[in-house]
Amino acid sequence: MEILDGKKLSGVIKKEIRGAVNLRKEKGLKTPHLAAVLVGNDGASLTYVGSKVRSCEEVGFQSTLIRLEDTISEEVLLDKIKELNQDESLDGYIVQLPLPKHINEEKILLAVDPDKDVDGFHPTNFGRMALDMESFIPATPFGIIEMLKRYEIPTSGKHCVVIGRSHIVGRPISILMSQKGTAGDSTVTLTHSRTKNLASLTLEADIIISALGVPDFLKADMVKDGVVIIDVGITRVANESHPKGYVIKGDVDFEEVSKKASFITPVPGGVGPMTIAMLLKNTLISCERKSK
Ligand code: NAD
Repeated sequence: MEILDGKKLSGVIKKEIRGAVNLRKEKGLKTPHLAAVLVGNDGASLTYVGSKVRSCEEVGFQSTLIRLEDTISEEVLLDKIKELNQDESLDGYIVQLPLPKHINEEKILLAVDPDKDVDGFHPTNFGRMALDMESFIPATPFGIIEMLKRYEIPTSGKHCVVIGRSHIVGRPISILMSQKGTAGDSTVTLTHSRTKNLASLTLEADIIISALGVPDFLKADMVKDGVVIIDVGITRVANESHPKGYVIKGDVDFEEVSKKASFITPVPGGVGPMTIAMLLKNTLISCERKSK
């Protein structure tokens, strides 16, 4: 069994990005600039946005954090989005989800300029991705593909079972895994909460990508020997003995499943750090596209 070390690999990717940024600076070209919009004070969102901003500093990007009150109206937020779309200094920005209930997330995502949509959530980017056209690929699926490529895990002709059909992970990764080329060419089964007898499908899988958010959901008796496991799940589970009062758990019963797996991502330290690295990569790509 080999651990797919997302922390280490994301470090390598960030180093490459830093190298590209330094080269741009030496040539007098623009420094990539990423902004993050955070509405409210949700604990997990604060953590995610905090590490995105720190990562920008690590690779030499310019970063801007825009914090807004959770009482902000949809209209004012839309005005802010318009402003960001027009800001020539920005190569990309993200709107951290979830948004407060009184704001229509779909409306906000549709307002983002697709050329600055480094999260790859806009229908233009999603559609282009599905059609094999140049686009921003959502950071988490992009990170999974990059991980499979760099660890040289064969995917061609393999049966890949994806658990979860969200717009940000399950659905896009199911498209990417079935696309022509590496990492792709898999035969994909997309499963979800209405799937019947899930274990009969996971038992047939060469690769399982789990993104449902239920700790220890995937057990050893649901997988075959030699399976490749990508655990996307991140759930905070209360734990009094931990200084933070919680621990982070993935969807996979790591201790038992790792005994049967050929490759497996840990949680934390697997897909999570890759997601941030690929957000930076998308921002660099956006900056480079504009310089062309
Ligand atoms: P979501 O929370 O929007 O939806 C969960 C999905 O799981 C749904 O499609 C549902 O149909 C499916 N599901 C629920 N119960 C099921 C069952 N019993 N059997 C099969 N499918 C079932 O999905 P999401 O936003 O992709 O998040 C999933 C998990 O991934 C969460 O823990 C989230 O925190 C985590 N996540 C991690 C990263 C990362 O960078 N590592 C990024 C995004 C999401």
